Amino acid sequence: MSDVASVLYPEAEIRDRVRELGQDITRDYAGRPPVLISILKGGVVFLADLIRRIDLPLRLDFMSISAYASDSESSGVVRILKDLDHDIGGEHVLVVEDIIDTGLTLSYLLSTLAAREAASVEVCTLLDKSVRRIAPLDIRYRGFDCPDRFVVGYGLDYLERYRNLPFIIAVNDQADLAADPAALDGYLSIAGRTGA
Ligand code: 5GP
Repeated sequence: MSDVASVLYPEAEIRDRVRELGQDITRDYAGRPPVLISILKGGVVFLADLIRRIDLPLRLDFMSISAYASDSESSGVVRILKDLDHDIGGEHVLVVEDIIDTGLTLSYLLSTLAAREAASVEVCTLLDKSVRRIAPLDIRYRGFDCPDRFVVGYGLDYLERYRNLPFIIAVNDQADLAADPAALDGYLSIAGRTGA
């Protein structure tokens, strides 16, 4: 499509991996119906596909957070804009994430959830940028070990764009996107869906 980016995870590869994750979760949580917690908004596309691959009763809940710092680097400290609707005391919680980068955001969130006395708390992420990890995290379910590239699509955005791409693309140089946030619009057209 362009030299600005390339397809990293095509639609079929994501679908197959999500099916496998759903099978693993179905097996592990048999007899222990989980509460899946998603952090708005990036994780919702993955969540929507994942829950349809889990053959168990389950509940969903959502949190919305915003970083305190205005800089682009994660500090991990976040403000909770929307908290969970229901108490998770005694529940088996599975936090579903789109991507874990430094891990700072998630480790902060897990520390706030820890006080709520869930029966168990595990993490499922579609993408794990493990080479960037600063905060050590125990990740029970991981879709792909993601290279250190900026990625968009399948829920992941750049300035709120590209969440609706059915595949994930990696940007070669983020400066191109900064100069023109619409630089990847070609991927939004059916003709541009080389990842399909
Ligand atoms: P962390 O605290 O793990 O460094 O930050 C994780 C958050 O940074 C993710 O939830 C996501 O919002 C954002 N993020 C990290 N890497 C990427 C990326 O490659 N693409 C996009 N769109 N967001 C990212």
